[in-house]
Amino acid sequence: MRQSKFFMPTLKEAPSDAVAESHKLMIRGGYIRQVTAGVYAYLPLGYRVLRKAEGIIEDEMEKINVPEMIMPHLLPATLWQESGRYKKYGAEMFKLKDRHGRESLLGPTHEETFTEIIAKNLKSYKQMPLALYQIQTKFRDENRPRFGLLRGREFVMLDGYSFAATRDQLDEQFDDQKSAYKRIFKRAGVTVHPVIADSGTMGGKNSTEFQAPAAIGEDTIATNEKGTYAANLEMAKSIDTFKQEPEDAKELTKVATPGCDTIEKLAKFLNVPATRIVKSILYIADDQKVLVLIRGDKQINEVKLGHVLDADEVHEADTADLKEITGSEKGGVGPVGVGPVNADWADKIIADETVKDLYNVVVGAGETDYQFENANLDRDFKVDEFVDIRTANEGEPDPVDHLPLKFTTSIEVGHIFKLGTYYTKTMGADFLDQNGKAKPVIMGSYGIGVTRMLSAAVEQHLTEHGVAWPKEIAPFAIHIVQMKMNKEDQTELAEKLEKKFSEKYDVLYDDRKERAGVKFADADLVGAPIRITVGKKAADGIVEVKRPTDDKATEMSIDELDKFVN
Ligand code: ATP
Ligand code: MG
Ligand code: MG
Ligand code: MG
Repeated sequence: MRQSKFFMPTLKEAPSDAVAESHKLMIRGGYIRQVTAGVYAYLPLGYRVLRKAEGIIEDEMEKINVPEMIMPHLLPATLWQESGRYKKYGAEMFKLKDRHGRESLLGPTHEETFTEIIAKNLKSYKQMPLALYQIQTKFRDENRPRFGLLRGREFVMLDGYSFAATRDQLDEQFDDQKSAYKRIFKRAGVTVHPVIADSGTMGGKNSTEFQAPAAIGEDTIATNEKGTYAANLEMAKSIDTFKQEPEDAKELTKVATPGCDTIEKLAKFLNVPATRIVKSILYIADDQKVLVLIRGDKQINEVKLGHVLDADEVHEADTADLKEITGSEKGGVGPVGVGPVNADWADKIIADETVKDLYNVVVGAGETDYQFENANLDRDFKVDEFVDIRTANEGEPDPVDHLPLKFTTSIEVGHIFKLGTYYTKTMGADFLDQNGKAKPVIMGSYGIGVTRMLSAAVEQHLTEHGVAWPKEIAPFAIHIVQMKMNKEDQTELAEKLEKKFSEKYDVLYDDRKERAGVKFADADLVGAPIRITVGKKAADGIVEVKRPTDDKATEMSIDELDKFVN
């Protein structure tokens, strides 16, 4: 590809609203352009990376015998009414009406669509185990689309669904997918931790997330030193469910602080003295789900879990409410981060996006030298002492045995679920077993945020002035940069190299009449694994070679270059 013909509108500066490094890079490098909030055009460079990632996925799905297909984006509301999710899914769903007034939606995920096809077309146990997948644009009206491709309102997802006649079949399918996902991330150069994730009402072992550690990540994962324990601290989905069904709140807190049925265990889990803990309250602020500890002045021996507060309740909680919640005579009691503490401080905590600050609130509770009325961050709570208490791992090893836990911010790049029979039961997807008996198909669902994964790759492979794309998803494998377009010997050599390497690799040849500085700056943004500069020594068959992570370029003869490239 000749760069003079390539459309890659680069910018010196990222727009001021871009916060995430991956977002800045993709805008500066001319990979993407925003069309409206959370909705992007993939320009040629970005689209190449996307297609490469999709290629890896297709390859790995082929290996586990999962065929690709494609579903419509536009779905009838009736489909979702059948599963009961039309209402439940909430504000994230893009809804619309057609000219006849029929309600429709743009698919945010496709459990229903696949289940219906299976309900109508799969009849016997002999047709299973079966799994299908698609790579498709999804629509979610995110409350806060941000960070470029990390949280879009329109994004590309790999979503797969498995159908089994028995639990064992499902387990096997799940393991196959899990291994395939690990290979996909490895090939895409994205370091991930498979972690225990919230699985709604499904129970612990049934849900695994693939979390890519990165500073910009919106999730926090807990891992132990031995590497035997890793969990997401987020309880997002189940909290919404539990909110609707307060009865289940108890169940939730059990999941949130597994094995912590006494104050001692909880304290140990949190790594704080037991005297600091009186009650746990599940605190919901906007999208953030946080377990907040409220300190009272009485020592109690049992953790009373299960009281769910709405964000509004927390904001408006006054002394009297807190008195009731904590059962403390003093009322004020040092609610951690909420209630009658200094309002500015409480707002700051609540408004703060970082999990870190939210958890500072735990530290210091119950300490005599700490203040709770008019408490101040830094003065009363130390930033480096925070502990994070969200986790979800029912049925998994008790994390209390795995202390100390380390907390890392990370990006959820994939999520796999053992769904069971929820959809197939509600939507009537039955099959006949060996004995001719009708049973509901057992499902699994599997997803990777493909476009989000690309951002994660950038976050993990930033260089001083650009990016070092992992080989398999790099937009170009080789970038030939010719210094002076009016030097014939340079043109001759550059074209020769272009021709030769193009047989095996994707080559971008910078044949623009631009200054060297401009060319190099753009090359940093392209981030090809190998950059070949054809300059002064072209006549002697000498070029300069640099990988994005190298400090300096190395001179090479054409023979040496051949060896280096192959
Ligand atoms: P999140 O917790 O980040 O909102 P999710 O749990 O709602 O994600 P899933 O329903 O599990 O997402 O969807 C599967 C995958 O799709 C996620 O693991 C993630 O990688 C990706 N994904 C979800 N929402 C977005 C989004 N708004 N933009 C880009 N990718 C997304
Ligand atoms: Mg979400
Ligand atoms: Mg999630
Ligand atoms: Mg998820």
